[in-house]
Amino acid sequence: MNFVKIMKFGGTSVGSPERMRALIPLITDDERKIVVLSAMSGTTNSLVEISDLLYSGNATGAMNKIEILREKYHKVVNELYETEAFRKSGLEMINSHFGSLTNIASRSFTKQQEKAVLAEGELMSTALVHLMLQEKNIKSYLLPALNYMRVDKDGEPDYFYIEENLKRELRKCDSKSIIITQGFICRNAYGEIDNLKRGGSDYTASIIGSVLKVREIQIWTDISGFHNNDPRFVENTRVIRELSFDEAAELAYFGAKILHPATVNPAKINNIPVRLKNTMEPEDEGTLITASTTQADYKAVAAKDGISVIRIRSDRMLMAYGFLRKVFEIFEAYRTPIDMIATSEVSVSLTIDNPQNLEQIAKDLKELGTVEIEKNQTIICIVGDFRTERKGSAPEIFRALNTVSLKMISYGGSNNSLSLLIDTADKIKALKLLSKHLFA
Ligand code: ASP
Ligand code: MG
Repeated sequence: MNFVKIMKFGGTSVGSPERMRALIPLITDDERKIVVLSAMSGTTNSLVEISDLLYSGNATGAMNKIEILREKYHKVVNELYETEAFRKSGLEMINSHFGSLTNIASRSFTKQQEKAVLAEGELMSTALVHLMLQEKNIKSYLLPALNYMRVDKDGEPDYFYIEENLKRELRKCDSKSIIITQGFICRNAYGEIDNLKRGGSDYTASIIGSVLKVREIQIWTDISGFHNNDPRFVENTRVIRELSFDEAAELAYFGAKILHPATVNPAKINNIPVRLKNTMEPEDEGTLITASTTQADYKAVAAKDGISVIRIRSDRMLMAYGFLRKVFEIFEAYRTPIDMIATSEVSVSLTIDNPQNLEQIAKDLKELGTVEIEKNQTIICIVGDFRTERKGSAPEIFRALNTVSLKMISYGGSNNSLSLLIDTADKIKALKLLSKHLFA
């Protein structure tokens, strides 16, 4: 049961029959591996839209969207397979998945059914690729993620369960076959279908890789690794060749879309390198994430939108202790994580990225003092060498941004990052200024 690597391919890497065929040379080397696949790009979004329509009671709208999606998959099947026999099995397989979808759509809709709807994307992409390999006489084994992947009551991976069940499932397959499994989907503590949140296929790969102690976890996407700034907004960005686990976690968390932020953690704990690769340019080195860090004043900048800042002001805070505890307890009660924090003697400002319980939180906080909320904020995270004994790195950043209003600054919390809060309206300008002054 020695697996060398995990190879996870994202939605665009399985986004068309052509892309699926392009996987073959990548996965048919001699190394024993597990291949984790996302849904075809666009599918999970369509399934979310279908669920939203069902929630709002618009069953006809949902059925229409289901039929449009079915058409799309029929086209994929017709283009993907070469022989009539395989087209026939492909269509039967797709129709059975759409049968489940229409079945769910014709009944009253619950959160639980939404999870089952979302799971169809990965179930179909893996079945399509598995069948493609069979048609080409390449030995593969379809490993059902719902038989081993599980989260506990807090939504955290249940490693004990996963290890036992994954190893049991793997004993069923021939050691020569390529093992294909679904990213993203899992069961919850009650055995119901669930998922690891949007973008969670990366997380699947690192959970499996950690359980099996593989040599490397590879995340294949359509971009050649982490860039030093956001290529959607800034020109001439560069790929970062090496990052430490901590640096990668900060970048992933603070907005670099390439990696699901939870991915780094299991790999870090087990010290398993994570390599980001590009399926369009497989020769590119990509980004290698390991325990070691390379020195550079500034490595990368990432931005995270959708932030709300909450400012609490209270004279009771003056020279008092226990005040912050009371504040934090309120956020804890609503299971809302805090990202940045700044304090003065009589006030504290906090940011959150999940506004779901914001109103309730504000109401409870008002018991402690006056509360002010501002939405549409962005956190800019600069990853680099910010050891406090060093001189000069923070002033350079502030000089670069002297035409942008900085609304919060977090420095000294970590040796490898500095975060700033700005209005989202200033984001592109700030990213461009940082690119010009830090990386030019
Ligand atoms: N298909 C899921 C999503 O679109 C999971 C993933 O692609 O990582 O969010
Ligand atoms: Mg992704």
